[in-house]
Amino acid sequence: MHSLLAACRELVFPPACLACGRRLPLDRLPLLCDGCHQLIPFIRSPRCPCCGLPYARGEDHLCGVCLTKPYSFSLARAALAYQPPIASLIGALKFQGLMTGIASLAGLAVSSHGFRELGDPDLILPVPLHPKRLRRRGFNQALVLARFCFPDRGRIIDASTLVKISPTVPQTQLSGTERRRNISGSFSVKQSQKVKNKRILLIDDVFTTGSTVNECARVLRRAGAARVEIFTLARTV
Ligand SMILES: [Zn+2]
Ligand SMILES: [Zn+2]
Repeated sequence: MHSLLAACRELVFPPACLACGRRLPLDRLPLLCDGCHQLIPFIRSPRCPCCGLPYARGEDHLCGVCLTKPYSFSLARAALAYQPPIASLIGALKFQGLMTGIASLAGLAVSSHGFRELGDPDLILPVPLHPKRLRRRGFNQALVLARFCFPDRGRIIDASTLVKISPTVPQTQLSGTERRRNISGSFSVKQSQKVKNKRILLIDDVFTTGSTVNECARVLRRAGAARVEIFTLARTV
């Protein structure tokens, strides 16, 4: 029965490569043809051991930011470089509500080097959206991503403790300094006893300057979190 359903589904929605649209012989994840799969820009060493900033050459070493202005998080890792075809897949997911690619993107995320370097968390928190934006978009892409990346950890995924209390201009339109100013004070921890002494893993889709996840980490640490790690699907390079 299961295979009959799968066969019907393939007739109606023939599997196609998410990046180039080429028809795929089998409905298997990730939905990428071999050519596009080879182009997937996984982030690996050399990179900053703290914030995960990748370098073109050399060995792992702390980046200028981590040396001078330490982030509020202990570790940040991203699976993929935010460049084609990943940038357009994430863009489609975020702005058009296209859910087709999420299982494939999460599959790539969990097979990345960065994912394997994460500690074992007590609590997994998606970076929240302001309720107004959540209503408009219909879903929080960070929460969807968390659920797909940690299918067996649903019990510790918590989308209500860390909240966005003031709406902000979308970060994509701002410079680094403007991003930090824009985001400052816009997150809050609802029940600090839930995060007190806990190891937190914060999930978001894209790490750009890190100001959003850093502000979240700052309020979580202030509320008593023992450690905050960041995992994002992609990172601008
Ligand atoms: Zn392709
Ligand atoms: Zn760094």
